[in-house]
Amino acid sequence: MNKNKSFYITTTLPYVNATPHVGFALELIRADVIARYKKFQGYDVFFNTGTDEHGKKLWEASQKNGQNVQDYVDEYASRFRNLKGLLNISEDIHFIRTTDLNHIVAVSEFWIKCQENGFIYKKNYKAKYCTGCELYKTDSELNEKGECLLHPGKPLELIDEENYFFKFSEFQDKLLEFYDNNPKFVIPDFRFNEIKSFVKAGLEDFSISRMASKMPWGIPVPGDKSQVIYVWFDALVNYISTLGWPKVCMNKVPHSNIGVCMPGEDLFAKYWGEGEVVQYCGKDNLRQQSAMWQAMLMACGLSCSNHIIIDGFITGEGGVKMSKSLGNTFNPYDIVDEYGAEALRYFLLKEISPFEDSPFTVERFKSAYNANLANGLGNLVSRLMNMLVAYDINISGISFEPIVSGELDKSYDNFELNKVMDIIWNKISELDQFIQESEPYKKIKVEPDQAKIDLLKMTQDLACIATSLFPLMPKTSEKIIELLKTRQKPETPLFLRKE
Ligand SMILES: [Zn+2]
Repeated sequence: MNKNKSFYITTTLPYVNATPHVGFALELIRADVIARYKKFQGYDVFFNTGTDEHGKKLWEASQKNGQNVQDYVDEYASRFRNLKGLLNISEDIHFIRTTDLNHIVAVSEFWIKCQENGFIYKKNYKAKYCTGCELYKTDSELNEKGECLLHPGKPLELIDEENYFFKFSEFQDKLLEFYDNNPKFVIPDFRFNEIKSFVKAGLEDFSISRMASKMPWGIPVPGDKSQVIYVWFDALVNYISTLGWPKVCMNKVPHSNIGVCMPGEDLFAKYWGEGEVVQYCGKDNLRQQSAMWQAMLMACGLSCSNHIIIDGFITGEGGVKMSKSLGNTFNPYDIVDEYGAEALRYFLLKEISPFEDSPFTVERFKSAYNANLANGLGNLVSRLMNMLVAYDINISGISFEPIVSGELDKSYDNFELNKVMDIIWNKISELDQFIQESEPYKKIKVEPDQAKIDLLKMTQDLACIATSLFPLMPKTSEKIIELLKTRQKPETPLFLRKE
């Protein structure tokens, strides 16, 4: 056990200009599984998510709706907050909003530190900018029509104004050295190689502010009210503002009217300083999380993250991108309505590749659901519990320990949650097989003692399966454990078969 060791895990913060999509549900569920697993191992876990709520797109959308911008973002933030209940996410998850006062204070302080350390300067900025990526694009990064490769059809914005810049170019050697010293920093390896190549090719300073007259919805640049802090120097700081960084008690934040005091435990020292720091993100966030954010931390004099885990994308059938016009998108809310959150967790964890792009179709979902949940696990629980009750078997001596498997631990350590699921589902199949071969329903009449021994072994196996399922499918795990502890048949099937 790792008593009192601390562990920090976070998702990225989705921008709240749309309803949550399944890609974010995937990220949140995976991070939740790791958070629960680490807690199970005895770690003190801090689990973070939240919403990115500043920027021009939100300002414009709120104005179009005739709404106050804070009301507008409040409404969207609540939809993301609701994912916690919807997807059976850990109760104690921390939800940070970039409009929270402590975040605003942290962003100002982060800026001031980087500026004092000499990494921020002002210059004229002319660029082609993709608001989809929130990154400027060089011509080599555009398609033949001059559009972003990730956002074809979306016109690039031409920016020509004076902005503050972050001296990203000074961090090439430091980042490469950091990567060398941390061979598991980005997982999987092919993404790590991708970011190493990007950094090796040379880094360009990036813009970190916009004119306040053009973008009124943002955090003011300390000491220059004509500018607001732009996306990455605002949003990325959430990973530490959620921990109460900078943990300073002050009457007034420099250059603002904000007064704040952070009481209590130094969560930043505990989780970011002494703990292991893991960040989940999609492949479109590789550069921001594993290079830009790490350089920003270095510039501020703070320690870097420990692992960045890069998810692939969920696609339609045949790997085609999901889009409304192709009609192959779906919403996590609809899936949960029809099949329940545990089934969605099952599918995303077991049937979606941890790192590669994977297709999600309702047909695939339904067939996996029927085969492995309705017929597989659900049927197994019903059969076994029915026999235990019918033959009045005393199962009070069984223990609730997880499956013992080095392979399972290794899969968790490598963030290969599909392999974890495979190991558990192999145990489920083995148990099914054992029931079929040992035929306790026949044996109980001719060799009752042996039948009881077999049934106890099966029950113990099911208890291990249910315990191991807890991080992955917490409600299912709790239900099975409850049935075992009270020796009851399920009143309704765990997973109803879908026609
Ligand atoms: Zn783009």
